[in-house]
Amino acid sequence: MATPKEMRRLVAGNWKMNLDLQAGSDLAKACVDALGSQNIPVVFCAPAIHLHALSGIVNGASNVHVGGQDISSHESGAHTGEISGMQLKSVGCSYVIVGHSERRADHGESGELLAAKVSQALANGLTPIYCFGETLEQREAGDEQKVVALQLQEGLAHLDVEAMNKVVLAYEPVWAIGTGKTASPAQAQAIHKFIRLWLDARFGESTASTTSILYGGSVKPTNANELFNQPDIDGGLIGGASLKPADFVSIVNAY
Ligand code: PEP
Repeated sequence: MATPKEMRRLVAGNWKMNLDLQAGSDLAKACVDALGSQNIPVVFCAPAIHLHALSGIVNGASNVHVGGQDISSHESGAHTGEISGMQLKSVGCSYVIVGHSERRADHGESGELLAAKVSQALANGLTPIYCFGETLEQREAGDEQKVVALQLQEGLAHLDVEAMNKVVLAYEPVWAIGTGKTASPAQAQAIHKFIRLWLDARFGESTASTTSILYGGSVKPTNANELFNQPDIDGGLIGGASLKPADFVSIVNAY
């Protein structure tokens, strides 16, 4: 029987605003071919404009899913440029990233807005991958736990246990995203443990032991195994390395 940690495993690639349709399709095909049938759920979080085509490519592949990188906080209507949960679902998405630090920074996304986005994802049958993490300044001030607790509280505290059990968390220290600097396995494990204790206090032991908590921030084939072996790290949200099929596949296989 699978252990609780095995049940929580997940590796998601965040392609960000990279690749045209052809290159994205080629990347997805190469990863699907190389992954074969494997037990670890994998998600491609691709630019919205590619999602429909990618759903066709991953259709039938075992444990490979497609996800959006953002979702509107509104259900539908006059919100030019936004993409709703229903629309993401209708092109085959099963996951969506919410609250990535680049959206928090570039678009000033507030805790209140992100709470509404999490709710929209859940209302449309999508698994939100809720991202949070401290800046370098906050870590140097020793405030990482305070910042993480506040971001968890803002985005998730409105949920009941049943809803929270459908959420995936991604701890992504801002100072490690796209910088080549990775949190050490011990640093990452310490915060992941803190997050699980926060879940226990707010939602109870069962939610704490079943929620997937991913690490993101310069994960590479060379450091993935040691990170994923930490007791409270359940996988990764992978940026740069998800754009290279060999690297992404070898990160998935690091399990
Ligand atoms: C990310 O964008 O979520 C990320 C972790 O990026 P990178 O792996 O490039 O640091």
